[in-house]
Amino acid sequence: MLGEFTQLLGYSAHSLKPKLEALGQKSFRANQLLQWLHQRGCSDFEVMTDLAKSLRSSLSTRYPIATPVILKDHVASDATRKWLFDVGAGNGVECVFIPERRRGTLCVSTQVGCALACSFCATGAQGFNRNLTAGEIIAQVWLARSLLLDSTSASAIRLPDRSGADSFQGADDLADLVDTDEDVTTVKPISNVVFMGMGEPLQNYEATLEALQILLSDHAYGLSRRRVTVSTSGVVPMIDRLAQDCPVALAVSLHAPDDLLRDRLVPLNRKYPLDQLMGACEGYLKHAPRDFITFEYTMIKGVNDRLDQAEALVSLLSRIPSKLNLIPFNPFPGSNLQRSDASQIRRFAERLLSAGITATIRKTRGEDIDAACGQLAGEVINITKKRPSMDPRRLS
Ligand code: SF4
Repeated sequence: MLGEFTQLLGYSAHSLKPKLEALGQKSFRANQLLQWLHQRGCSDFEVMTDLAKSLRSSLSTRYPIATPVILKDHVASDATRKWLFDVGAGNGVECVFIPERRRGTLCVSTQVGCALACSFCATGAQGFNRNLTAGEIIAQVWLARSLLLDSTSASAIRLPDRSGADSFQGADDLADLVDTDEDVTTVKPISNVVFMGMGEPLQNYEATLEALQILLSDHAYGLSRRRVTVSTSGVVPMIDRLAQDCPVALAVSLHAPDDLLRDRLVPLNRKYPLDQLMGACEGYLKHAPRDFITFEYTMIKGVNDRLDQAEALVSLLSRIPSKLNLIPFNPFPGSNLQRSDASQIRRFAERLLSAGITATIRKTRGEDIDAACGQLAGEVINITKKRPSMDPRRLS
């Protein structure tokens, strides 16, 4: 995306220190450099005047800035903004900004494509190409922040009224997330980051971990662990590792209440079935910054939206403090699946609520700009494999 400069964006203080020492610099310079890069969004080493001239010169030689290539930049009628960033070889990754009155959530990608092939997912239908580096993950935040702070862009993200108080994946009830009355969408555009774009973050663990450390660093983005969410389809051993290494908020792509159906919707379930996944979630809660796990459940007509399936969900989640996001399926080309009817989604939610489970129906954002994960990239990506379109009868 940005060549060597991208690499530099992906170094946490821990990684930067030895590199600076190798250049004959004191390790504390790492924090200064992080501040310049991430807090001030600076890409010109010459203006970093509190760094020694010799260091500035070495940095310019080693990490020359290259112009980022943005393949697409779309703003939806509801102010959701979606970029497609060039990652070389004809591929792009998506990054989506969802402004709301009191927070701005950036959804980042961690892989080019995805190997896990969930049957309702546009990214999964494209196959796996490669992992992103930590620099390529953080570059999405870095670029989005600078584009949003740009005076022209800033007007595009202001919300005149209450358009969009509904929850977005993993970004939970407004009251839980907002620390002040400040309207963050106009002064600090990115208040929350969710790892829910293209790819499975826990299958690109080291890069995801380094990116998390940069997001949480007081010298970089300074986000609290509650404001950063990693979403996984259920890579059980890595959930356990994340709990030890960097327990941020956790979201789990569930989508089915039993193994039989989940094996088909989320093929990873065949390796880590629901009892193992639920066990990992219970273990994670001992370390998590929130006292619940967010579960995402895509509502697919005639596949997983029956009321007896809502009952099964209640029983599955009975031992885990949870919030459930019901996500109306976002159709994409090549998929024969259909979105559940609004009335059925409401009935499903009511059944959960009456059993004491917090369930929200996610408002669909950015529909006019193909905001379903992977849809925009699917238009340009060098597709490594294509699966035939899905038949809902094989899933029920
Ligand atoms: S839902 Fe997530 S894990 Fe599944 S195929 Fe799509 S990107 Fe991959």
